[in-house]
Amino acid sequence: MNKHEILKKYFGYDSFRESQETLIDSILAGRDTLGIMPTGAGKSLCYQIPALMMEGISLVVSPLISLMKDQVGSLNQAGIHAAYLNSSLTAAQYYKALSLAREGRYPIIYVAPERLVTDAFLDFALHVKIAMVAVDEAHCVSQWGQDFRPSYLKIMDFIDRLPNRPIISAFTATATQEVREDIIDILQLREPLVVTTGFNRGNLYFGVMAPKDRYQAVKNYLELHKSESGILYCLTRKTVEEVCSRLIQDGFSVTRYHAGLGDEERRRNQDDFIYDRVPIIVATNAFGMGIDKSNVRFVLHFGMPKNLEAYYQEAGRAGRDGEPAECILYYSGQDVITNQFFIDHNSDNQELDELTRAIVQERDRERLKKMTFYCFTNDCLRDYILRYFGEYGAGYCGNCSNCLTQFETVDVTESARALAGCVKASRQRYGTTVIVDTVHGANTAKIRSYRMDENPYYGRLAKTPVHRLRKVLNELQMKGYLTVTNDEYAIVKLTEKSAELLGPEGENGPQILMKLAKEKEPATAAGSSKKKRRGIAAFAGNGEFTEKEESLFEKLRALRAEIAREAQIPPYIVFSDKTLTHMCLVKPKTKAELLSVSGVGEFKYEKYGEQFLRCIAENMFT
Ligand code: ADP
Ligand code: MG
Repeated sequence: MNKHEILKKYFGYDSFRESQETLIDSILAGRDTLGIMPTGAGKSLCYQIPALMMEGISLVVSPLISLMKDQVGSLNQAGIHAAYLNSSLTAAQYYKALSLAREGRYPIIYVAPERLVTDAFLDFALHVKIAMVAVDEAHCVSQWGQDFRPSYLKIMDFIDRLPNRPIISAFTATATQEVREDIIDILQLREPLVVTTGFNRGNLYFGVMAPKDRYQAVKNYLELHKSESGILYCLTRKTVEEVCSRLIQDGFSVTRYHAGLGDEERRRNQDDFIYDRVPIIVATNAFGMGIDKSNVRFVLHFGMPKNLEAYYQEAGRAGRDGEPAECILYYSGQDVITNQFFIDHNSDNQELDELTRAIVQERDRERLKKMTFYCFTNDCLRDYILRYFGEYGAGYCGNCSNCLTQFETVDVTESARALAGCVKASRQRYGTTVIVDTVHGANTAKIRSYRMDENPYYGRLAKTPVHRLRKVLNELQMKGYLTVTNDEYAIVKLTEKSAELLGPEGENGPQILMKLAKEKEPATAAGSSKKKRRGIAAFAGNGEFTEKEESLFEKLRALRAEIAREAQIPPYIVFSDKTLTHMCLVKPKTKAELLSVSGVGEFKYEKYGEQFLRCIAENMFT
């Protein structure tokens, strides 16, 4: 079978995506290959398809048991023999799997890196033909990455022991240069073909909001997205606990995940989420690595993560199936301070010498600043992210909260001068809240205790709302007229440029113009108010589901859940949301029509085809 036939027969897809074909051809030509593609781009097929075509066994190294289980489950569902070897197997299961492997039953075997150089595994590997070692999540070899795994360094020890060097392929979604170079060096890739695809994820909507009441905002969102599956990230374990119990009190079905829970509970909660038993998981950043769940419809951040790498990785867990999904960051000024604290007290860096630690901290602060500016910017959010990763965006994406907000350009010079003046008059000793409150003339205990009510700028702009003053202050930071210290106190300081604002009025000082949302902001809440219909665009232009199709979708989803429950696999492994959507549009009546649906391969047709055809017939044609 050729690669196109395999794609159709086993995976049920009609065509390869951008660069999948290049990567597959490179491997088949016997060349080491490195694929750098964003989450959901379809990296797995790039090594799975060559593995099925090459003579010999392909080993896939993967960092997590849950990932291996998921992938092997998917392959088995597609009718492909594959197995995993890791610590979740009993000794008896392990040796059974190895002996089947020896007989050549599995063209693809997933192995945990720490297994590779064990005697039992080496004994197996030395007696069969290993055609390829595919390293998934390859950034785990790099100390620069967030997910460094020392056991990944054993991959080379293993390969060195083999009588014939197999092809090595490596895949990751991490884009930075250091990580890329580390992968090539450490895995000793030989003149590899390196393919990097764009990092844009067109199906993801990006939003930033700074609501007064964060919890309420999140709650409103969840109310509008009942029955959809999503992740709510929080900065600390404590927040996870708080938000999770409030949501439960408010009647939502949610579970929680953070490193402070026992292994057993973490596994159970994660499974509840993956198997769609509980739609929402509230978690710290400990959650997510190894989650291949394709039907995550939203990722909300209750607080700003420490950098854009982390944000994009976490947000990127939404919409792996290519269907529209939303990523919304609910930001508050306090988040910066929390993150500064993490940077100053980062125990990961304990073993570093003082100089290196200082460099790392400086780098972390710089990244945090870029993350903060992501929350401040009024320009296209997607563009901001892509530029951060070294790509050029279009400047307007039409699918982020900024592109969907109507802005007007406003002269804020007066506010800017008052804010800078206030900072100077109070001798650069206070944080943003105090400065903004002073200029606004707030009558709070804090302001009085700092005697800011005696500051010459106190109440200077009493008519300008606090949120607007805050936006101006943010803008001044982005433009370099003011800065905020890189510590947990976040004190507003003057810069060299501040002098331009502090000169006497009317002198040729700068005019500060900024984009501000028009007062009645109809579209800012686009991500949360109007519920967008599934991404039919991919199949049928800009259509929307009719009511009947909508109800068919729910029926198909229920059928999928039932099948998944019986087979004890996650629902998205039976069929993805995208496949169900396509079914609703195609409304197949025959086997051939059902096989034309994206994601329906022959093997899956044999297993589930008739049940789905019946369900469609009952709901559409009677
Ligand atoms: P990655 O590892 O790059 O994050 P996956 O390999 O998990 O992505 O694939 C993401 C999703 O895209 C899966 O549901 C997969 O079946 C689907 N997919 C992969 N290749 C194609 C293709 N050529 N056409 C349609 N869907 C695809
Ligand atoms: Mg993957």
